Amino acid sequence: MSAAPATGSAPRTRASRPKPDAVLMGAVEVALHAAQETAEHPSDVGEHLGATMDADRLVSHSFACTMRGYRGWHWTVTLARAPRAKNATVCEVELLPGDDAILAPEWLPWSERLRPGDIGPGDVLPFQPDDPRLEPGYTPTGDEEEDRVAIEELALARVRVLSPEGRNEAAQRWYEGSHGPTTPGAIQSAAGCGTCGFLVPLQGALGQVFGVCVNEWSPDDGKVVSYDHGCGAHSETDVPAHPTDWPDSAPVINEMQLEIVEQVVVPADAEQAPAEQAPAAEQ
Ligand code: SF4
Repeated sequence: MSAAPATGSAPRTRASRPKPDAVLMGAVEVALHAAQETAEHPSDVGEHLGATMDADRLVSHSFACTMRGYRGWHWTVTLARAPRAKNATVCEVELLPGDDAILAPEWLPWSERLRPGDIGPGDVLPFQPDDPRLEPGYTPTGDEEEDRVAIEELALARVRVLSPEGRNEAAQRWYEGSHGPTTPGAIQSAAGCGTCGFLVPLQGALGQVFGVCVNEWSPDDGKVVSYDHGCGAHSETDVPAHPTDWPDSAPVINEMQLEIVEQVVVPADAEQAPAEQAPAAEQ
C-alpha cells in the first residue's frame, strides 16, 4: 500500500523541498487522535503508514482505513505549526483513496449514460443538432416529377432525414440482430422471408435487404426482417409428413365381420289390426 497521501500537489524540486520538521513528523499521536475523532469508530483507523512534508511546517500523516468496503483508502491528517511554536495543530482530516482503492466509476452526465432501450414513457432525449445519423431533408427543386418522387414516394420532405451513416448503422444492427439470418429460427426455417407473402418491403435502399413481417402467427410480426430471415409461418411452406404406425390402407372396420340385419318397424296400431280383421268364429 502506498504511504503517500493523495495531496494533488505538484512535485517539488530539490531546491524547493520543505525543511524536515521534527515536531510535526513526531506528532503521530496528535494525528491519530484527530483521525479517530473524525471516524465513526476509533477502530476504523489502522496503522500509521508514514508522513510527508507538504511545505515548511506542514506535514501529512497517513493511517490505514479499516472500514469495510474501503480497501486501499487511508486517513490523511494534515498538521501545521506556527513559526517557533512547539505544538502541532490539526488543519484537516480526510479519507482519501490510495493507488489500489476501489472507486466508483467516473461520473457521466445522464445524457451520456443512457443506452438504447432506456427510454420509457414520458422520457425525452436531448435534441442533437449535429446527429451524424441525420442530414437535411429534401428541398423542392421545381421539377414536378423529381419533387413528386422525393416528397410523395420517398417522404423526404422533412427537416432532417436518415443520412447514409444512419442507414448503414441501422442495416448492420438489424442484420446482425434477432431478425436477421443468423437466429436459430431463421437457420431452421425451410424458406426465407424474401419468398414469403407476408413480407412488405421497405422503401429506398433499406428495401433491398429488409421488409416488415405482417403475419400475426409469426414471432416476428410487426418487426423489420431481412430477406434471408425466416420462420415456420412462411406463407409457402407446409408441415412435413411424419411416419405413422397405422396401416396406410384397409381401414380397421374392414377387418370386422358384420352381419347387416334389416330392421322392420312395426306401427303402433299394427297389433290391433289382426284381431279386428280376424274371421268370425264358427257357430
Ligand atoms: S411470416 Fe415468417 S417467413 Fe414470412 S415474412 Fe414473417 S418472419 Fe418472414
